[in-house]
Amino acid sequence: MNIAIDGPAGAGKSTIARRAARELGFLYVDTGAMYRAVALYMINNNIDFSDEEKVSLAVKNVNIDLCYENDEQQILLNGKNVNSLIRTPEVSATASKTSSYKAVRERLLDLQKDIAAKNSVLMDGRDIGTVVLPNAELKIFLTASSKVRGERRYKELIERGEKADLSSIIKDIEKRDEQDRNRAIAPLKQADDAVLVDTSDMSIDEVVNRIIELKNSISE
Ligand code: C5P
Repeated sequence: MNIAIDGPAGAGKSTIARRAARELGFLYVDTGAMYRAVALYMINNNIDFSDEEKVSLAVKNVNIDLCYENDEQQILLNGKNVNSLIRTPEVSATASKTSSYKAVRERLLDLQKDIAAKNSVLMDGRDIGTVVLPNAELKIFLTASSKVRGERRYKELIERGEKADLSSIIKDIEKRDEQDRNRAIAPLKQADDAVLVDTSDMSIDEVVNRIIELKNSISE
Protein backbone atom coordinates (compact mmCIF):
# COMPACT_ATOMS: atom_id res chain seq x y z
CA MET A 1 0.00 0.00 0.00
CA ASN A 2 1.23 3.50 -0.82
CA ILE A 3 0.22 6.91 0.47
CA ALA A 4 0.87 10.08 -1.54
CA ILE A 5 1.09 13.46 0.17
CA ASP A 6 1.41 16.58 -1.94
CA GLY A 7 1.20 20.25 -1.21
CA PRO A 8 2.93 23.62 -1.39
CA ALA A 9 6.17 24.64 0.33
CA GLY A 10 6.02 24.92 4.08
CA ALA A 11 2.65 23.20 4.54
CA GLY A 12 4.35 20.96 7.11
CA LYS A 13 4.47 17.98 4.77
CA SER A 14 7.79 16.54 5.88
CA THR A 15 7.23 16.87 9.65
CA ILE A 16 3.76 15.41 9.35
CA ALA A 17 4.60 12.74 6.79
CA ARG A 18 7.61 11.56 8.80
CA ARG A 19 5.52 11.14 11.93
CA ALA A 20 2.54 9.56 10.20
CA ALA A 21 4.86 7.11 8.42
CA ARG A 22 6.48 6.11 11.70
CA GLU A 23 3.10 5.50 13.35
CA LEU A 24 1.80 3.53 10.39
CA GLY A 25 5.01 1.52 9.88
CA PHE A 26 5.50 2.92 6.37
CA LEU A 27 8.78 4.00 4.79
CA TYR A 28 8.89 7.78 4.56
CA VAL A 29 10.21 9.12 1.26
CA ASP A 30 10.86 12.86 0.97
CA THR A 31 11.12 13.53 -2.76
CA GLY A 32 11.82 17.24 -2.22
CA ALA A 33 15.19 16.21 -0.77
CA MET A 34 16.03 14.50 -4.07
CA TYR A 35 15.29 17.68 -6.05
CA ARG A 36 17.29 19.65 -3.49
CA ALA A 37 20.29 17.32 -3.92
CA VAL A 38 20.19 17.83 -7.70
CA ALA A 39 20.10 21.60 -7.12
CA LEU A 40 23.07 21.34 -4.76
CA TYR A 41 25.03 19.54 -7.47
CA MET A 42 24.35 22.43 -9.89
CA ILE A 43 25.42 25.00 -7.27
CA ASN A 44 28.60 23.11 -6.35
CA ASN A 45 29.58 22.72 -9.99
CA ASN A 46 28.79 26.31 -10.99
CA ILE A 47 26.18 25.23 -13.51
CA ASP A 48 23.94 28.14 -14.55
CA PHE A 49 20.64 26.79 -13.19
CA SER A 50 18.54 29.03 -15.42
CA ASP A 51 20.03 27.31 -18.50
CA GLU A 52 17.93 24.19 -19.12
CA GLU A 53 20.34 22.74 -21.66
CA LYS A 54 23.33 22.96 -19.30
CA VAL A 55 21.37 21.52 -16.38
CA SER A 56 20.01 18.70 -18.57
CA LEU A 57 23.54 17.72 -19.58
CA ALA A 58 24.92 18.02 -16.06
CA VAL A 59 22.14 15.94 -14.49
CA LYS A 60 23.47 12.89 -16.33
CA ASN A 61 26.37 12.96 -13.86
CA VAL A 62 24.08 13.01 -10.85
CA ASN A 63 23.34 9.83 -8.94
CA ILE A 64 20.89 10.05 -6.09
CA ASP A 65 20.40 7.28 -3.53
CA LEU A 66 18.51 7.05 -0.28
CA CYS A 67 19.42 5.24 2.87
CA TYR A 68 17.95 5.34 6.37
CA GLU A 69 19.72 6.04 9.65
CA ASN A 70 17.63 5.81 12.83
CA ASP A 71 14.49 5.97 10.71
CA GLU A 72 15.65 9.24 9.11
CA GLN A 73 16.01 9.45 5.35
CA GLN A 74 19.55 10.30 4.27
CA ILE A 75 20.16 11.56 0.79
CA LEU A 76 23.31 10.53 -1.03
CA LEU A 77 24.55 12.67 -3.90
CA ASN A 78 27.10 10.68 -5.90
CA GLY A 79 27.73 8.61 -2.79
CA LYS A 80 28.12 11.53 -0.37
CA ASN A 81 25.57 12.20 2.38
CA VAL A 82 24.32 15.76 1.75
CA ASN A 83 21.41 15.83 4.21
CA SER A 84 22.80 18.73 6.20
CA LEU A 85 23.51 20.84 3.09
CA ILE A 86 20.17 20.92 1.27
CA ARG A 87 17.96 23.12 3.47
CA THR A 88 19.43 26.54 2.66
CA PRO A 89 17.35 29.25 0.94
CA GLU A 90 19.77 29.09 -2.03
CA VAL A 91 19.13 25.37 -2.50
CA SER A 92 15.33 25.90 -2.10
CA ALA A 93 15.25 28.56 -4.80
CA THR A 94 17.53 26.60 -7.15
CA ALA A 95 15.54 23.37 -6.66
CA SER A 96 12.31 25.11 -7.54
CA LYS A 97 13.86 26.16 -10.87
CA THR A 98 15.79 22.99 -11.79
CA SER A 99 12.83 20.76 -10.86
CA SER A 100 10.88 22.31 -13.73
CA TYR A 101 13.21 20.69 -16.30
CA LYS A 102 12.18 17.45 -17.99
CA ALA A 103 15.62 15.84 -17.75
CA VAL A 104 15.76 16.45 -14.00
CA ARG A 105 12.30 14.99 -13.39
CA GLU A 106 13.03 11.96 -15.57
CA ARG A 107 16.21 11.31 -13.66
CA LEU A 108 14.31 11.03 -10.36
CA LEU A 109 10.99 9.50 -11.44
CA ASP A 110 12.23 5.91 -11.89
CA LEU A 111 13.99 5.96 -8.54
CA GLN A 112 10.80 7.17 -6.83
CA LYS A 113 8.59 4.59 -8.57
CA ASP A 114 11.06 1.82 -7.82
CA ILE A 115 11.16 2.55 -4.07
CA ALA A 116 7.35 2.60 -3.96
CA ALA A 117 7.13 -0.68 -5.85
CA LYS A 118 9.39 -2.40 -3.31
CA ASN A 119 8.06 -0.89 -0.06
CA SER A 120 4.90 0.43 1.58
CA VAL A 121 5.75 4.09 1.30
CA LEU A 122 4.38 7.35 2.46
CA MET A 123 5.88 9.65 -0.15
CA ASP A 124 5.65 13.42 -0.13
CA GLY A 125 6.26 15.99 -2.85
CA ARG A 126 4.35 17.98 -5.44
CA ASP A 127 3.39 15.41 -8.10
CA ILE A 128 3.19 12.17 -6.12
CA GLY A 129 -0.58 11.67 -6.43
CA THR A 130 -0.73 12.92 -10.01
CA VAL A 131 2.40 11.52 -11.68
CA VAL A 132 4.65 9.34 -9.50
CA LEU A 133 2.02 7.16 -7.80
CA PRO A 134 -1.26 7.75 -9.64
CA ASN A 135 -2.55 4.45 -8.19
CA ALA A 136 -1.70 5.21 -4.56
CA GLU A 137 -4.41 3.85 -2.27
CA LEU A 138 -4.57 7.13 -0.34
CA LYS A 139 -3.81 10.62 -1.61
CA ILE A 140 -3.71 13.69 0.55
CA PHE A 141 -3.22 17.30 -0.46
CA LEU A 142 -1.89 19.27 2.50
CA THR A 143 -2.14 23.00 2.39
CA ALA A 144 -2.23 26.13 4.55
CA SER A 145 -2.35 29.84 3.82
CA SER A 146 0.98 31.34 2.73
CA LYS A 147 0.91 33.57 5.83
CA VAL A 148 0.62 30.57 8.17
CA ARG A 149 3.28 28.66 6.22
CA GLY A 150 5.64 31.65 6.38
CA GLU A 151 5.05 32.10 10.11
CA ARG A 152 5.83 28.42 10.76
CA ARG A 153 9.09 28.59 8.84
CA TYR A 154 9.99 31.86 10.59
CA LYS A 155 9.43 30.27 14.00
CA GLU A 156 11.52 27.24 13.03
CA LEU A 157 14.46 29.45 12.01
CA ILE A 158 14.25 31.65 15.10
CA GLU A 159 14.12 28.57 17.33
CA ARG A 160 17.29 27.30 15.64
CA GLY A 161 18.94 30.62 16.46
CA GLU A 162 19.06 31.78 12.84
CA LYS A 163 18.21 35.22 11.54
CA ALA A 164 14.92 35.48 9.69
CA ASP A 165 12.70 38.07 8.08
CA LEU A 166 9.04 37.09 7.99
CA SER A 167 8.00 39.11 4.95
CA SER A 168 10.87 37.82 2.79
CA ILE A 169 10.11 34.24 3.90
CA ILE A 170 6.47 34.64 2.83
CA LYS A 171 7.61 36.17 -0.46
CA ASP A 172 10.03 33.27 -1.14
CA ILE A 173 7.32 30.71 -0.37
CA GLU A 174 4.85 32.43 -2.70
CA LYS A 175 7.45 32.61 -5.46
CA ARG A 176 8.25 28.91 -5.15
CA ASP A 177 4.55 27.99 -5.14
CA GLU A 178 3.95 30.04 -8.23
CA GLN A 179 6.87 28.35 -10.04
CA ASP A 180 5.81 24.88 -8.87
CA ARG A 181 2.15 25.43 -9.85
CA ASN A 182 2.79 26.92 -13.25
CA ARG A 183 5.48 24.70 -14.68
CA ALA A 184 4.63 22.65 -17.76
CA ILE A 185 5.70 19.24 -16.42
CA ALA A 186 4.26 17.66 -13.28
CA PRO A 187 3.04 20.91 -11.70
CA LEU A 188 1.94 21.14 -8.08
CA LYS A 189 -1.70 20.16 -8.27
CA GLN A 190 -4.27 18.37 -6.16
CA ALA A 191 -5.12 14.99 -7.74
CA ASP A 192 -8.84 14.57 -8.47
CA ASP A 193 -9.05 11.76 -5.94
CA ALA A 194 -6.95 13.40 -3.21
CA VAL A 195 -8.39 14.44 0.15
CA LEU A 196 -7.75 18.13 0.86
CA VAL A 197 -6.47 18.86 4.38
CA ASP A 198 -6.06 22.55 5.24
CA THR A 199 -3.66 22.67 8.18
CA SER A 200 -3.88 26.45 8.80
CA ASP A 201 -5.75 25.98 12.07
CA MET A 202 -4.57 22.47 12.96
CA SER A 203 -1.77 21.29 15.23
CA ILE A 204 0.79 18.76 14.00
CA ASP A 205 -0.84 16.07 16.17
CA GLU A 206 -4.26 16.81 14.68
CA VAL A 207 -2.96 16.50 11.13
CA VAL A 208 -1.05 13.28 11.86
CA ASN A 209 -4.19 11.81 13.47
CA ARG A 210 -6.29 12.84 10.49
CA ILE A 211 -3.91 10.98 8.15
CA ILE A 212 -4.00 7.88 10.34
CA GLU A 213 -7.82 8.04 10.41
CA LEU A 214 -7.93 8.34 6.62
CA LYS A 215 -5.56 5.39 6.20
CA ASN A 216 -7.60 3.27 8.66
CA SER A 217 -10.83 4.16 6.91
CA ILE A 218 -9.58 2.73 3.63
CA SER A 219 -8.04 -0.42 5.10
CA GLU A 220 -11.24 -1.38 6.97
O1 C5P B 1 9.39 19.83 -0.56
P1 C5P B 1 10.61 20.71 -0.72
O2 C5P B 1 10.36 22.12 -0.34
O3 C5P B 1 11.81 20.14 -0.04
O4 C5P B 1 10.92 20.68 -2.30
C1 C5P B 1 11.92 21.49 -2.88
C2 C5P B 1 11.54 21.77 -4.32
O5 C5P B 1 11.61 20.56 -5.07
C3 C5P B 1 10.12 22.29 -4.53
O6 C5P B 1 10.03 23.70 -4.50
C4 C5P B 1 9.76 21.76 -5.90
O7 C5P B 1 10.14 22.68 -6.92
C5 C5P B 1 10.60 20.53 -6.05
N1 C5P B 1 9.82 19.30 -5.94
C6 C5P B 1 9.17 18.85 -7.07
N2 C5P B 1 8.50 17.66 -7.04
C7 C5P B 1 8.45 16.93 -5.93
C8 C5P B 1 9.07 17.39 -4.74
C9 C5P B 1 9.74 18.60 -4.78
O8 C5P B 1 9.19 19.50 -8.10
N3 C5P B 1 7.82 15.75 -5.95
